Amino acid sequence: MSLVLDRPIQRQLPLARPLPRPTERRVGIWSSPAVIAPNNFVYKSLSNWAFNVAVGCSHACRFCYVPSAATIKQGPKLAEYGVKDPDAEWGDYVLLRPWDEDKFLASLRAAENTPRSLLKPDGNRAVMYCSTTDPYQVIHHPDSERQRMLGQHARRLVRRSLELIRDCSTLNVRILTRSPLARADFDLFKSFGPRLLFGMSLPTLRNDLAKVYEPKAPAPSQRLAALRAAREAGLHVYVAIAPTYPECDEADLRATLRAVAEIDPVTIFHEPINIRAENVERIQSHAGELGVKLRTDVFETREQWQDYAVNALQTVERVAGELNIADRLHLWPDKSLGNSGVTHRMPKPKEHLRWLGNWWKRISEWPRVGTPHLNRLARQG
Ligand code: SF4
Repeated sequence: MSLVLDRPIQRQLPLARPLPRPTERRVGIWSSPAVIAPNNFVYKSLSNWAFNVAVGCSHACRFCYVPSAATIKQGPKLAEYGVKDPDAEWGDYVLLRPWDEDKFLASLRAAENTPRSLLKPDGNRAVMYCSTTDPYQVIHHPDSERQRMLGQHARRLVRRSLELIRDCSTLNVRILTRSPLARADFDLFKSFGPRLLFGMSLPTLRNDLAKVYEPKAPAPSQRLAALRAAREAGLHVYVAIAPTYPECDEADLRATLRAVAEIDPVTIFHEPINIRAENVERIQSHAGELGVKLRTDVFETREQWQDYAVNALQTVERVAGELNIADRLHLWPDKSLGNSGVTHRMPKPKEHLRWLGNWWKRISEWPRVGTPHLNRLARQG
């Protein structure tokens, strides 16, 4: 039986067939240590560097771009851990990086000493936690004692590295997670002052829909609660409404933007799902297992996806204007939306290119002493 995904679906969903269980070899410790490394974001304005605690991610988001962009390069090494297809098996392996303080400090010094003239200004001299995994995921292991030790190790990786960045450098930090477990570190985040931005990915407020696309990530309701708590704790907060799904219609996008506006974030990023390697197959096969019919028609041809993507971006832009939060909106249009095939289909091709160029050039906000956002926080404090 196939279910058409329309609201409300909570009662429609059958019990999901469980995703593959973690096995001993696939959940453990990776070979090379966690260090700060330059990242290669294009047009995202998130950071200059990233600190990644693991290879793999237990949140298992079906659209995730990481296996095609980064993890797949580790294919031969992952095979030693029993991972045959890093893309198809995404979400089924988490290999935490070891901690080597000397190596971490060497990478921190290298980042700190990089001349500003060599850094892309849109990175805000920030280190991102994380770009290819989630810094606050739950590590599942069949052996409970091993699971406890791995969990402790993951905590130490994040906390110790943050303490060193705070005390031994002038770098900024951007946290990006889907997990409310980050609340345990709010005090540490606070100790950075305006050097740290805390953010969560929140594509929708619908828990049922997120369960299909992000089967093992915490529910959006929990994420929104964590964002509100962060704001109340006096942290500088941003939100990534990303990636939104084809089922996120205008009403859904409006509801998310309205809830996000109440948190008064520094920046609101948005992008729709992009097609990357096998992610559409992953989405379709998981929806098929659940017996849920998704709007995957938008991925059928490049043209259909491009029209869907432009429409989603422009809807968010319009609604953000209506909600008076356009000043902090930061869209992430994919590079391919500037191809001549798309541009020629637009009623005003030159305006379309100008519109894209403005978003691609945008540098995201970073709180500085004396800025309105910081003043608002100081008054609340
Ligand atoms: S939390 Fe991020 S890295 Fe992890 S699976 Fe989801 S999108 Fe990928």
